[in-house]
Amino acid sequence: MSYTLKSDFMKKASIVSIGNELLSGQTIDTNVSWLSGKLLSIGIPVVSSYTVGDDTDSIIRSFNLASSDADLMLATGGLGPTDDDLTRQAFAKFLDAELQLKDELLQKIKDFFTSRNLQMPQKCTIQAYMPAGAKALANNIGTAPGIMAEVKDKLLIALPGVPSEMKQMFEESVLPELKGFVTDQNVVVRKLKCFGAGESNIAELLGNLCRRGRNPLINCTAKHGVITLHIVTTAKDKIQAQQMAEKDEKLLTDKLGELIYGTGDRTLAEVVDEKLAQQKKTIAVAESCTGGCLARLLTDIPGASRYFTHGWVTYSNSAKTSELGVPADLIEKHGAVSDRVARAMAQCARKRAGTTFAIGITGIAGPTGGSEQKPVGLVYISVDSDSGCETKRLILSHGRDFIRLRAAQTALNMLRLKLEG
Ligand code: ATP
Repeated sequence: MSYTLKSDFMKKASIVSIGNELLSGQTIDTNVSWLSGKLLSIGIPVVSSYTVGDDTDSIIRSFNLASSDADLMLATGGLGPTDDDLTRQAFAKFLDAELQLKDELLQKIKDFFTSRNLQMPQKCTIQAYMPAGAKALANNIGTAPGIMAEVKDKLLIALPGVPSEMKQMFEESVLPELKGFVTDQNVVVRKLKCFGAGESNIAELLGNLCRRGRNPLINCTAKHGVITLHIVTTAKDKIQAQQMAEKDEKLLTDKLGELIYGTGDRTLAEVVDEKLAQQKKTIAVAESCTGGCLARLLTDIPGASRYFTHGWVTYSNSAKTSELGVPADLIEKHGAVSDRVARAMAQCARKRAGTTFAIGITGIAGPTGGSEQKPVGLVYISVDSDSGCETKRLILSHGRDFIRLRAAQTALNMLRLKLEG
């Protein structure tokens, strides 16, 4: 993964994750996402990341790539005492330096075991070796010190892979070193959250604003139908960066209008929560294929009892009739998955609950149960209120979980638009 930031003054970082377990699917690389966020928060964007196995040549190759991409390389993993931990040796080879035993580091490792009433395994001696010219970074919760070296204006750092050790060392030992490294650069990231259009539609609406190399840079990510636009602004001065980001935020908001539901990390449910509470309106839901997913999203928010009154999961036809009052002949005539039944579910639910709004959802989440006329992923969502009943027909894909969650999110978005008038 990589992206380009156009600014000559900017110091950038590259991350190297080391370990066979990251390549075999055993371990998810959480270090890279944590470090990327931390570095960006202090004004250093990560422009590339590499994942390599426990192999000296691969590690050296990745160090070469990372240090040619960026001014700061941060590597994690492979600093342990076992034979598959090769980062220390690779670092020394990369620097063309000898590994030297450091007595003070050895003493620290011995003390670590003594304080726990344990004998230091002989293998741990390797962790007291440093490449000549490199600096050891203190590890206050484990045995492996980090390694830091400066080569031609580039700063190269290796930390242990265990996330808790890596995080503590980053905060305690790396951050102080980075203070002098970045003095006059600022990165401001604003996020705009959109729902109701795909990534490509949004990119089309934004046109030239999304071009690579622009500052601010607009990056786009998608999850369960929510598109997040990241406005990444870089400038020497923090206020200038903020002003540039604000200007872009306004530009994007004007272009995308009601597709934008919020900023930062807000969810659709949080936005709906705020609007329902502010407007003192109430909601009930009647769900079939989503099996309570919409009620769950609404009630995940603390204080939902201010507006959420009822949630029915009426999975069978008979439950739709007995619990909600949907006429059996309507279901017979149009089928349980139909716009008429979704409407009836919403209208009946609102009548029974006495709420401002009610939502009815019926559909086929799959993987079985679809037909030519009514395929898997067909979902009807109705929102009923005093101003009438609005129904949406969706054809969703990507499996049962996605279909259910996307249907519930779409229902929240329909409600959000009603609340925004
Ligand atoms: P150790 O002393 O445990 O050997 P180390 O620095 O050699 O420390 P690794 O052996 O590479 O680190 O990793 C130790 C454990 O930390 C891995 O088994 C894995 O569970 C976790 N880990 C390593 N790298 C990552 C990563 N990038 N993201 C998340 N977890 C990781």
